[in-house]
Amino acid sequence: MSALSRRTVLRAGAVGAAAAAVAGSLPAAPAHAARTDIGVSVYPFPLGAVTLLSGPFLANTGRTQSYLSFLDADRLLHTFRLNYGLSSSATACGGWESPTTELRGHSMGHVLTGLAQAYASTGTTSFKTKGDYLVAQLAICQARATTAGYNTGYLSAYPESFIDRVEARQSVWAPYYTLHKIMAGLLDMHLLAGNAQALTVLTAMASWVKFRNDRLTLTQRQNMLDTEFGGMNEVLANLYQLTENSNHLVAAQHFDHAEVFDPLAANTDALNNYHANTQIPKAIGAIREYHATGTTRYLDIARNFWDIVVSRHTYAIGANSNGEYFKAPNRIASELSDNTAECCNTYNMLKLSRQLFFTNPARADYMDFYEKALYNHLLGAQDPNSSHGFHSYYIPLRAGGIKTYSNDYNNFTCCHGTGMETNTKLGDTIYFHSGDNLYVNLFIASQLNWAAKGVTVRQDTTFPEAPSSKLTITAGSGTFAMRVRVPAWATGATIRVNGTLQSGVTPGSYAVITRTWATGDVVDVALPMAVVREATPDSATTQAVKYGPIVLAGAYGSTNLSALPTLTASSITATSTPLQFTATASTGTVTLLPFYKMHGQRYTVYWNVTTTNPLPAFVAHYLFNETSGTSAADATGNGKTATLAGGATWVAGRTGNAVNLSGSSQYVALPSGILAGASAFSIATWVRLDAVTNWARLFDFGTGTSANMFLVPSSSSGTARFAITTSGSGGEQRINAPSALPTGVWTHVAVTVGGGVGILYVNGAEVARNSAMTLTPASLGSTTNNWIGRSQYSDPYLDGAVDSFRVYSRVLTASEVSGFHSAGL
Ligand SMILES: [Zn+2]
Repeated sequence: MSALSRRTVLRAGAVGAAAAAVAGSLPAAPAHAARTDIGVSVYPFPLGAVTLLSGPFLANTGRTQSYLSFLDADRLLHTFRLNYGLSSSATACGGWESPTTELRGHSMGHVLTGLAQAYASTGTTSFKTKGDYLVAQLAICQARATTAGYNTGYLSAYPESFIDRVEARQSVWAPYYTLHKIMAGLLDMHLLAGNAQALTVLTAMASWVKFRNDRLTLTQRQNMLDTEFGGMNEVLANLYQLTENSNHLVAAQHFDHAEVFDPLAANTDALNNYHANTQIPKAIGAIREYHATGTTRYLDIARNFWDIVVSRHTYAIGANSNGEYFKAPNRIASELSDNTAECCNTYNMLKLSRQLFFTNPARADYMDFYEKALYNHLLGAQDPNSSHGFHSYYIPLRAGGIKTYSNDYNNFTCCHGTGMETNTKLGDTIYFHSGDNLYVNLFIASQLNWAAKGVTVRQDTTFPEAPSSKLTITAGSGTFAMRVRVPAWATGATIRVNGTLQSGVTPGSYAVITRTWATGDVVDVALPMAVVREATPDSATTQAVKYGPIVLAGAYGSTNLSALPTLTASSITATSTPLQFTATASTGTVTLLPFYKMHGQRYTVYWNVTTTNPLPAFVAHYLFNETSGTSAADATGNGKTATLAGGATWVAGRTGNAVNLSGSSQYVALPSGILAGASAFSIATWVRLDAVTNWARLFDFGTGTSANMFLVPSSSSGTARFAITTSGSGGEQRINAPSALPTGVWTHVAVTVGGGVGILYVNGAEVARNSAMTLTPASLGSTTNNWIGRSQYSDPYLDGAVDSFRVYSRVLTASEVSGFHSAGL
């Protein structure tokens, strides 16, 4: 069945206000939403508009769809029916769904969402049929609420006395958490599978929620919120957006947990010892309450939460939590156990990342995180050897850990549930749209039918096994901007349109290609990967190894480990198998595999790395005397070969040749970590500027706009400047020269920083100094974007020639600098 007919099926299935969906143009919000989301400028495509093509994501989807087809609806309904005095001869489920488990019924919600998503993605009616049956049977239960002794609208697999207990602060697991899953599943059955009865049942549940909570005092409600309640605020805000019934917003706001929201609104990290997956859905609720109300405090809460969790509480695989709890900020190496990285947390962090990106698409880092956590955590949390997509709960991050998985009927953990959701919506974030803009966020083999533009885009890729992707307009034509995410890790990334190299391709941003597209147009995205190591914030020697964005773990078979193996970093060597490496460790020779492919054996994600060679005093020297090719040799013999990028050329230089940069997309990329750990440095070089453009970089070493150091021939003040920062432009420590660098003549420029003093030299003479420079390259960590001629920001590129570029890990003396100038070295 084609993608178009899938959408037709969906439209036919959507009732009532679905008429608001104009044929041929995709709605900005769900087809029958009464209220427009406030503060949103980017939108997802319907699930049915994106078809996954062959690859690991499609394989995961197939296994979960098989499981959803296999599941016996009556076994899932068993405890619900018993709770309403109905007979059930079905075999009870086990695990967290057993008839005596207080969380029973939660999986019903996950299954409803999974079925709705599977139907919306594929149009396969059996998913909808099963979902419709579950909804109808739940409606029968709910209709018997008063008969069973419950309040009207109550729908659960456990008695309403559980709610009494949570209100009375008596011991009970998480009753509202369970109800949230059911409510979210009903909403999805309505929105994605056009089930009208689901909305009726959901609305009655929402009215019951409001009834239960209206009668409590504010203090009682806030005390109750200490018990995990999932995304009650989210689903009720979503229901408000759908129906415009303000009662649902009132009910949503009953779940605004002040104890958690207040510090977040103040951007304070108070998460230590809070249950992680209890808090993440609150932040998702907050961003949806912002979209519903426009109250920016909700946006602050959600955005600050994401920033805090991602920067201070996240492992290399994009996951968080140890034993389900957040720990003190920056505790990572000290929190490696068998109970790390609960999968639900990352499922929810991805949901939050998506909503924040809808709110601020200028932040490519939301989607960089999405890629990191999707590939390194969730993709590999499903067991590929299970035809039913059994799923992990925790992902052990201790050395010697091994992934374990759920089963058909005797597990039903929360993560088994969110696994069903994750793996039925893997196409939902590859592409977004906004007016005449198409966002390409993820490099996953897929086909998009952009109905509003009458355009079909096919993405062919085996990424990350190959560091590239090809987007082809396979049908239709029209003018729009294709915005392709250039990952922050992708130093040297290039984009070609029908073979023509594009400018403005900057890692950590979206490259914008605006043109009148025609069938057959091809966009080639090259994303060079390199082996990098990521140290933990609490232990510089505890490091994960990555190739591009992919975490590589050591494969240890059945061998358990009692401590982190010590890795000889220089020994990491690629094999002929994509993404597979070998290395020497204290345990012997070890194979490194992508962590998402690590199944059925013990592994280590983190290593002890003590073999870092101290930087040589003279780190690198680029004479640029080559005459062809794109490699620039390092004359020190240290092997720090640089790469000409963006079409940079060779030209006659100060002595021999030089590298020539045109002022448009051309630059030189130096190796990652070239000054990593250096507590002092010097850079000395010759430059002949063809033009001076404010903010064009002579050099810029960094990892993005937060942490970097750069030298510009002219700032907006019209004078040359060196700056170093670990906190963006507002935190820069600067050396400002009295004038800009000249054009048309070879000029010697040097900067030295060390011992708290930074000095800028032009033509062998000091022109400026700053005696309060506390930042050094060591402050920046191991930088990945080390460029001559290019900025971390979207600044102009350098227009001119560069020759004899020297990098030192020490402070050059004034006489050394003047000697280079006078001797023309
Ligand atoms: Zn979980």
